[in-house]
Amino acid sequence: ERTIQRIAAGEVVERPASVVKELVENSLDAGASRVAVSVEAGGTEGIRVRDDGVGIEGDQLEAAVAEHATSKIGDIDDLDAGVATLGFRGEALYTVGGVSRLTVRSKPPDADAGAEISVEGGSVGEVRPAGCPTGTVVEVDDLFYNTPARKKFLKRVTTEFDHVNTVVTSYALANPDVAISLEHDGRETFATEGNGDLRSAVLAVYGREVAEGMLDVDWRPDEGSADSSSLNARTENGSPSVIRVTGLVSHPETTRASRDYLGTYVNGRYVTASSLREAVLDAYDGQLAPDRYPFTVLFVEVPPDDVDVNVHPRKLEVRFDEEAAVRSAVEDAVGSALLDHGL
Ligand code: ADP
Ligand code: MG
Repeated sequence: ERTIQRIAAGEVVERPASVVKELVENSLDAGASRVAVSVEAGGTEGIRVRDDGVGIEGDQLEAAVAEHATSKIGDIDDLDAGVATLGFRGEALYTVGGVSRLTVRSKPPDADAGAEISVEGGSVGEVRPAGCPTGTVVEVDDLFYNTPARKKFLKRVTTEFDHVNTVVTSYALANPDVAISLEHDGRETFATEGNGDLRSAVLAVYGREVAEGMLDVDWRPDEGSADSSSLNARTENGSPSVIRVTGLVSHPETTRASRDYLGTYVNGRYVTASSLREAVLDAYDGQLAPDRYPFTVLFVEVPPDDVDVNVHPRKLEVRFDEEAAVRSAVEDAVGSALLDHGL
């Protein structure tokens, strides 16, 4: 109960991008190898997320759209380790169904036929048989049609689509082994191959010039180094996990006039952490032109006990118990990648 309360406090659907985020997380939780997102008018008119995951049994559809539907967490401790499990609120479909016209259509791989359920402004319809391929399709039409006050806060279509694009991009880069695509008003924005190769995902999302300007990062603590952080020291004490930094960062000449492409991920989850961004920029140490920022897709792995990402469930902020150690690891990781290329 404590867990549910703590989560529910932050559960608000702000805009189309928040819906897209929840639906993509559900698809990934369902073990999908393909996730196709398409939106109409920046998501304000329609959102559709289709996956080929484990699906939902017909007799479970009603539960899936009900309040506190999740069985994905047991207690508050799981929340702190929640970086590993993306969905942990059990509120997303229920909340979205309250402020839109929602349809969930699904067929588990071993089911003979699919089924669907619709929710309109919180009123739940009957489960009906439906023809569909294996997996799940969630459609969200007319978001906020029954909550005009919230609808008024939506921005222009291009702005809402930018938010959607940012969300889907961050999942596409964090999950190069899943084929993730995005379509806006019938036009493909990008589609990753899902072949597990990060550079190929960057190519799909940001284009050839950026992909070719990316340098590999693969860093782990220097064993026995004199300035071992306490995270490193714990390894010697037999702790199973240590800090690790991998991914891609751009050549100092492959930049944009925006910080938006400084992507950092902690234990597989996209986060914004000013300490990580500062560490990245410090590593470039004067090599960037004024007001220019690199592209990064940087994965930081730390022991789950050392990170708290669920300070507020809707935010992507993260805190580390050992901030200084993580910071210096990231700076060193990026610095070494640049140095390897004579930079
Ligand atoms: P949560 O993800 O926190 O459990 P949601 O409201 O997002 O809560 O989803 C409720 C439940 O519906 C999930 O626990 C899951 O069992 C089921 N579900 C939702 N989306 C999918 C999907 N794409 N594939 C399979 N099952 C899903
Ligand atoms: Mg969910």
